[in-house]
Amino acid sequence: MKYKNIIEKMSLEEKASLCVGFDYWTTIAIDNLNIPSIRMSDGPNGLRVQKSKSDNLGINESEIATCFPSLSALANSWNKEIAYKFGKTLGKEARCMEINIVLGPGINIKRSPLCGRNFEYFSEDPYLSGILGSYYVKGIQENNVGACIKHFAANNQENRRRTINVVIDEKALNEIYLKAFEIIVKKEKPWAIMSAYNRVNGEYCSENKKLIDIARKNWKFDGVFITDWGANNDRVKGLLAGLDLEMPGGRGNGKNEIIKAVQTGKINENYLDEIVDNILNIALKINKNKKEKEQQYDREEHHKMAQKIAEESIVLLKNDKKILPLKMNKIAIIGDMAKNPRYQGAGSSTVNPYKLENLLNIFEKEYNVSYSKGYERIATEQYDKLIEEAVSMAKKNDIVIICAGLTENYESEGMDRKDLDLPTNQNKLIEEICKVNNNVIIVLSNGSVVTMPWKDKVKAIITGYLGGEAGARAMFNCLTGVVNPSGKLAETYPLKLQDIPCYNYFPGTEVSVEYKESIYVGYRYYNTCKKKVAYPFGYGLSYTEFEYLNLKIQNKNDKIILEFFIKNIGNVKGKEIAQVYISKDNSKLFRANRELREFTKIEIEPGEIKKVSIELSKDAFSIYNTQNKRWEIEEGNYKIQIGKSVENIVLEDEIFINSNDILQNIDFPIAYKTGNINNVTDEDFEKVLGHKIPERKIKLSEITEDNT
Ligand code: BGC
Repeated sequence: MKYKNIIEKMSLEEKASLCVGFDYWTTIAIDNLNIPSIRMSDGPNGLRVQKSKSDNLGINESEIATCFPSLSALANSWNKEIAYKFGKTLGKEARCMEINIVLGPGINIKRSPLCGRNFEYFSEDPYLSGILGSYYVKGIQENNVGACIKHFAANNQENRRRTINVVIDEKALNEIYLKAFEIIVKKEKPWAIMSAYNRVNGEYCSENKKLIDIARKNWKFDGVFITDWGANNDRVKGLLAGLDLEMPGGRGNGKNEIIKAVQTGKINENYLDEIVDNILNIALKINKNKKEKEQQYDREEHHKMAQKIAEESIVLLKNDKKILPLKMNKIAIIGDMAKNPRYQGAGSSTVNPYKLENLLNIFEKEYNVSYSKGYERIATEQYDKLIEEAVSMAKKNDIVIICAGLTENYESEGMDRKDLDLPTNQNKLIEEICKVNNNVIIVLSNGSVVTMPWKDKVKAIITGYLGGEAGARAMFNCLTGVVNPSGKLAETYPLKLQDIPCYNYFPGTEVSVEYKESIYVGYRYYNTCKKKVAYPFGYGLSYTEFEYLNLKIQNKNDKIILEFFIKNIGNVKGKEIAQVYISKDNSKLFRANRELREFTKIEIEPGEIKKVSIELSKDAFSIYNTQNKRWEIEEGNYKIQIGKSVENIVLEDEIFINSNDILQNIDFPIAYKTGNINNVTDEDFEKVLGHKIPERKIKLSEITEDNT
């Protein structure tokens, strides 16, 4: 224990009260022992500091703060430096607003694009989420403000999020759903981890000793385990599992339950001391802040940073006949989102923005444009008149920019989407405009994947995801060529809903959701099964083009050094994201055909060739072996593949990796060997799960006030 001398002076009541929130956002201060209160705030894409009425749904107003792009947008940047700057700027703002822990980043994996909260998460790939998340956490924590990575773990749907039991095999859990947490904990020592509402293999995450032990023992996590707001179920059981702090305060009876449990011998007081020590370890870091002068931040500077992040994150999906960047033409701008941007998601991450820009205003200042609303956001069934007006405007202009996207009631915390489609009135609008104008450019605002039935009829498609308060300026800069788009998709765009690997298993029954697809999430499935997609993971265009040359691989004392060159063969400066995948044939275990292991983003002048050096550690080749319950390396040949996207490998070579781990040949069901996991039988799933599938129907006797 680090703070034995302080803990010795604490009464049982003081110790117990430290393990339960004081109010909605803070922990208790114990002044005579110089223990400060920890003040927390959402969230990932800007602060939601509530000074009067509090809630965890983004309903009551919060202080003005910079609204940065959503993390789903940041992920498209694939830019480590920009993730760091995002965190650094956000952390500075937190420091100035006297927030000690920022409740973010959300790093859950996008198991299904239908999850209503995907806009808050990075990617379908744990490595991309973990690395970008690490840089973001590093940035925040350099301000002596803590990051709280969330929601631990396997919180991959909003439907019944408070009770659902995630039935998952250990390989998928470790390789896919815990990996990003592991990367961040090991690299950046976040101050806190937030436990998810749901259960994992039968236990609520706030009481899940197995999960909490993985972080504490295997990854050496030394921060505070905090419940999601209201995710406490049984405080004593949670404490015994290693859950340090119940949030928020002011509800339930946690403190007294802890006191009673100590008095009756259910909890050993020495054990409680260790929990208190974890909390002090974080709380006492804050004391340092108070001694410094209060900081100020420059709102304009932070707004510019929000713009810069948005610029790095914009993805150009289609650009036929190089219609973009825009040349001087008669332009019609159509779509309500041009005027009233959709720039952030809904729920606990809602930010009260400092300065919200919109695309129409920016265009009007610099171009001669006309505008038509095009669609209603809420009353989506009323469209004829608006479409008529828009069509007549489209006829009179050379180019039509349609600002479309998911509306506020599509993506939110607390609910999932029902399909991947844009609102019908918007799809109809686009179809009708395409009939009268050949130069249609679609500008999307979407926190997650959408289908694009009109994809082949439009000239260009560009998405800024949810670009934050300065997203419109960033989009304008990309459309006009001031900035060359350089984002690539952090998630796959399937052709249709039914193609999603977990389509048959999402969102489960009233009690559980079975992750029968195991590790085959996102591109791991599409690529392994050679399933056609609309846009693959890692895909994005630029106004220039890049050529890749001369891959060399060396194995130096267990470090794999990759070297290759990228040439900008176009006419403008641009940034390229090179992706490193590994692939192993004939594995004794099951694995996806291709897995991301590194990436880099570099800026290259026209005609210039730049050398890229990437180092892979031997860990990049490890895989979770359920049989031995640990990470192991399978000896043998591996392909190292350098891709522009997961589906566009441009350089490839092989390397032999040796290992002392002895892997048995395991007879996994064929579905898992091939990745054809759409219709896994119960019997096959149980083989991978290692136990029987739990009961799928709820028993009346088990219905409590927690049920949704
Ligand atoms: C969300 C968390 C959030 C918390 C506090 C919960 O409902 O799941 O992500 O940090 O509320 O607002």
